[in-house]
Amino acid sequence: MKSIAKWAFAVLIAGVILSFPIRGEAAEAVNIYTFEDLKSMKDNPSGDYVLKNDIDCLGEEWVPFDFSGTLDGEGHGLLNLNITEVSEGVRTTYDGNMKTYDTVFSGLFGCIENGTVKNLGLYGINVDVNIEKDCFVGTIAGYMDGGTIDNCIIEGNASLHVKGAMFGVGGIVGFGNGKIVNTKAETTLVNVDLDASTRDEEFLGGAYAAGYIDLDNDDINLKGYVSDHGYVHSGGMVGMYGLYPAGFEYAGYITNVRVSQDSKIFFFEDNTNRRAYCDPVNGEVLNWTYAFSGCSAPDKSIFRNETNDYSKDLYPHGDCGTDEASFTTEVIDGTHETFGYTLHTCPTDGYSYKDSYTLKVHDLGEGEEIIAPTLDSMGLEKKVCKTCGAEVYTSIDKLTPTPTPSPEVKEESREGEDGPTGSSVTFVGSIGSILLIVLLIAAVVITIIAFRVILKSGKKHGRRK
Ligand SMILES: [Zn+2]
Ligand SMILES: [Zn+2]
Repeated sequence: MKSIAKWAFAVLIAGVILSFPIRGEAAEAVNIYTFEDLKSMKDNPSGDYVLKNDIDCLGEEWVPFDFSGTLDGEGHGLLNLNITEVSEGVRTTYDGNMKTYDTVFSGLFGCIENGTVKNLGLYGINVDVNIEKDCFVGTIAGYMDGGTIDNCIIEGNASLHVKGAMFGVGGIVGFGNGKIVNTKAETTLVNVDLDASTRDEEFLGGAYAAGYIDLDNDDINLKGYVSDHGYVHSGGMVGMYGLYPAGFEYAGYITNVRVSQDSKIFFFEDNTNRRAYCDPVNGEVLNWTYAFSGCSAPDKSIFRNETNDYSKDLYPHGDCGTDEASFTTEVIDGTHETFGYTLHTCPTDGYSYKDSYTLKVHDLGEGEEIIAPTLDSMGLEKKVCKTCGAEVYTSIDKLTPTPTPSPEVKEESREGEDGPTGSSVTFVGSIGSILLIVLLIAAVVITIIAFRVILKSGKKHGRRK
């Protein structure tokens, strides 16, 4: 009987030891190599992630979700990210009168709550939301609460067509608090109010549309287009700065933020009781609670472009009349250090925009298999650039199943191919965890039984004495 107890104890100890590596792995940052990996962040939105690869998202649709983890881009870029939906989360936004609104959001993330996004490039991101709800959109996030955005680069567009009472567009974040530091945003922002009957609250800003996000060492290049039948709050940096709730005290900062000299906002405010806030720095400031120094912005007379013609909504290149079909297009190739893109230029007035970003171009050596492909999941291959040493990861196709006589089996394997990459890895992982738990429970039960048996036999011995 004692030998059973020893054996059971050994199994218990082995189980405990075996379970440690699994716990350790869960705490480590997860590497992202592919668009599928990027999407799977949704399964654990409070996790830590590291982007190990530049990813071209052309032709894919990104559905935003709320994020409270850490995403470290390690200097890599996401190209041509296309977003037309809002995330599921509803949050409270507020206007200048502290009136609150249930609001939805869009961007790479819907809401960042105490999360961090750093060292990430978004090249050719295109957020284009059309909705009949109160809504804020940004590029990195629609809403931020206590989050941090550090050392990011954004080149792209954010556009909102909306029927609502409270809405806005930001070059980096839509609405909220937290901080945006060491970040460059070169964006075209469009906000069109589809409902002339509601005297809404509209916000637009090169860094963020409204809230009290701290800013330091950021570069903003902004072209803004606002068509609104309510109250406009637009700024090169911030549409409206304001603390919430009333009575809340906070000493923030807007320091060393540079709005490029060619930044402009075009807008109309179709409203008999007009305020038409539009300023190269902050459109409206409710409470000046922040340190302000080291900033630069263009002159208000150049930046602010107001029109009183409310008959047509304002868009980039809206006045020229030259059809886009006659634009010249120039393909700029990527290099070892830079992404490529296509440049479209109007022959009449020189207006131009970039799209169709392409990956960097490297002299890649032999591939090294990092993850072997299976029947159900794609593998991963690493190649190193012989010139600059950059590491590039590409997917390896799933294995093709060997022909089987039964057609039903073929059907099954075909279904398996539709499953997301890495699902089998997760599945194997969870099977392992379940086995381990079963093993542990078994060991504990055996140990208890064994000790009880020993205890009983011990008592028996005692009686004999
Ligand atoms: Zn033109
Ligand atoms: Zn290279």
